[in-house]
Amino acid sequence: MLVLKSVSFNGREYTEPSAETQKGFGVFDIYSFRYYPQDNVVILSDECCAKFGCKKVYPTNLGVFPKELVYDGDKEKYTNFFNRIKSGEDNVSENVRSVDGKTSYRISMGVLEKDNNGRPVVVSGMIQNHDEHIRMLEHVQLLTGDYENVFLVDFETNDIEVFRAQEHIDKQYGEMLQQKHSFEKIMAKYIKDYVFDEEKIEMAVIFTRKNIERKLMENNLFTHDFRILRNEKTEHIRIKVVNVSDNPSSLKRAVIGFANVSKEKNVELMHLAYDDAITGGRNFTFFNESLKQVNNEGTIVTVDIKSFKIVNEVCGMSKGDVILRHVSDIIEKQVEGKGFYGHLNADHFIVFLDTTKEDEVKELLENITENVEALVVLFDIPKISAYFGVTRWRVGMRTNVAISEANTAKHNIKGINGPNLAFYRHEDLEKTIEEKQMEDSFEEALKRHQFEVWYQPKFSPVGHDMIGAEALIRWRKKDGTLVYPNRFIPVFERDGMIPQLDEYVFRAVCEQQKEWLDKFGKTVPISINVSRASLFFDKIVDRYRQIAEDVGVPSELVPLEITESMAETNDMIRDMANKFNDTGFPIHIDDFGTGYSSLSSLNMMKFDTLKIDKSLVDYIGNVSGDSLIKHTIALAKELGFHVTAEGVETKEQVAFLRDHACDSIQGFYYAKPMHADNFMELLAG
Ligand code: C2E
Ligand code: MG
Ligand code: MG
Repeated sequence: MLVLKSVSFNGREYTEPSAETQKGFGVFDIYSFRYYPQDNVVILSDECCAKFGCKKVYPTNLGVFPKELVYDGDKEKYTNFFNRIKSGEDNVSENVRSVDGKTSYRISMGVLEKDNNGRPVVVSGMIQNHDEHIRMLEHVQLLTGDYENVFLVDFETNDIEVFRAQEHIDKQYGEMLQQKHSFEKIMAKYIKDYVFDEEKIEMAVIFTRKNIERKLMENNLFTHDFRILRNEKTEHIRIKVVNVSDNPSSLKRAVIGFANVSKEKNVELMHLAYDDAITGGRNFTFFNESLKQVNNEGTIVTVDIKSFKIVNEVCGMSKGDVILRHVSDIIEKQVEGKGFYGHLNADHFIVFLDTTKEDEVKELLENITENVEALVVLFDIPKISAYFGVTRWRVGMRTNVAISEANTAKHNIKGINGPNLAFYRHEDLEKTIEEKQMEDSFEEALKRHQFEVWYQPKFSPVGHDMIGAEALIRWRKKDGTLVYPNRFIPVFERDGMIPQLDEYVFRAVCEQQKEWLDKFGKTVPISINVSRASLFFDKIVDRYRQIAEDVGVPSELVPLEITESMAETNDMIRDMANKFNDTGFPIHIDDFGTGYSSLSSLNMMKFDTLKIDKSLVDYIGNVSGDSLIKHTIALAKELGFHVTAEGVETKEQVAFLRDHACDSIQGFYYAKPMHADNFMELLAG
């Protein structure tokens, strides 16, 4: 083994260039150094210091190294030279001049050691009098690469000069070397003694003289990695062969080095196994393996990115992947030292935290949220956010049980505005089961017409006559009970069934309108809710137009309600709404006041009616609430929209809204949603 000295600087220990190697180099006017890029430190060999009259340790960030040796005009070259290693190049070289500008040197570096993230840690470098024969460069590079066994092989005379050999090599092959066995023969024995059985044949083929020659014709050097078994341990070995023949097109002499690269290989293999192809961070295998090592209680968090699908759809998959990589980095940074994480799939991550304190968990997850939300501005993408399901991890708990508990908790907050983190409680499980049952019975319910459309009329606050209605769905279960949309719409929105349901309601309302038109010769517009997920179907506008046409209902009798938050966050939804509008369907902006958008941002979109949400209406009677609603109505009217107030329950509210020119009122004050039969009576009357 090489004995390496170390030197301390700024409280840290740095390994010096190998003295043994330097001794050999001196003969060729070659001087070695080591570079520690993460600390910006260079350590020169003693010979180098003696030759150029420089110090042993140089910080590279405080100017040019070593200034005693750098020609004025080459300064930039040096900076560039160190930066190239930092930015990921494994081997760099540069021609420079001595400080007096007279002698030319070639300075080169090769990365010896990297950290788990592939960043260089130790770099070996050398300064070589360039006037030496150029082919020596490769020769020397080979030697500096810390190859433990290095030979100069003369293929014509069978002479093998040993530059460096480990003791066991000496013992085992010393005799053959002395007896001038050919390299081929010695290699054959080596292969037989050490190389893995399944790699023996391949190795034997590669290391025939003919093949070495052929390979060196193509390229002046080549390397080959293989595995050996020594002392019942697997080791990864790299052989490097460099042609140093006078005439490089024929094989006379080669330098051949053997290096044990087990450490590097193991890191590489670990990366292969544990690195995630999409995010470049950790994968689930890593997470799972790490969890097996934990023997204290902790917390498991599953992470989803809210609206990530929209990023993919709107910005394309490759931008989506870039965002995921950043999300992975953010999580990695936040959990560092406090736990570990892995990427599950798509926009799903899983985290283990070493604590069971809910406050600590919350704080950490808030940091993740903040950083993820910052990506929106940074990358100019639709609004995304992170949300989390959290559960307690106990020693011995199976990973998939923990995941499913955390996911169950997360389920409760998916698709709603408000908290973005939920802790698993036992009751959650019952809710999940109920939701699962809903999903399972969806198709059947659709077929059996268990979904009923109810109608809630809208009235003019002036004449108190009915001027419209909204269609609201209910689910009539087999036992006759009615289930309200708040219970099942979010479930179907999450699981992709909502477009089917929305279309079902739309068709039902069209048919109903047609029936009433035919019967009474009149009706009022009945608005239908369209969920965000439905709007992602390109063909929705054509489909709805076709349905209205087939049924024979003018589109202005079936306006569409979309929620405010949808319109604001997404251009695509806005385009779709505009398309509906252009096709003749009036658009009503639902739930205005619950999201973040302002009227001026809505002005970008073509729509007909603004529906002020109950939560705003409830402010009536409160001074600032009064002024907010007054201004909202005034501005909406100014921009040419109709205004409907929702959830109006009191006489005072009606009076206030009428006084401020609100066009229509929907609320329990006038009527609750009602069955079609009851609504028909109202319509007939
Ligand atoms: P929304 O579209 O904002 O509908 C208004 C909701 O407010 C209805 O609840 C209605 O019953 C309720 N409401 C109306 N006036 C009052 C009032 O004075 N006081 C109170 N407390 N509530 C009032 P509902 O029917 O439970 O519907 C809830 C939500 O479900 C709807 O909110 C809508 O977002 C969604 N929804 C209903 N039907 C459909 C549908 O066919 N498709 C889709 N995608 N969503 C639907
Ligand atoms: Mg609505
Ligand atoms: Mg509403």
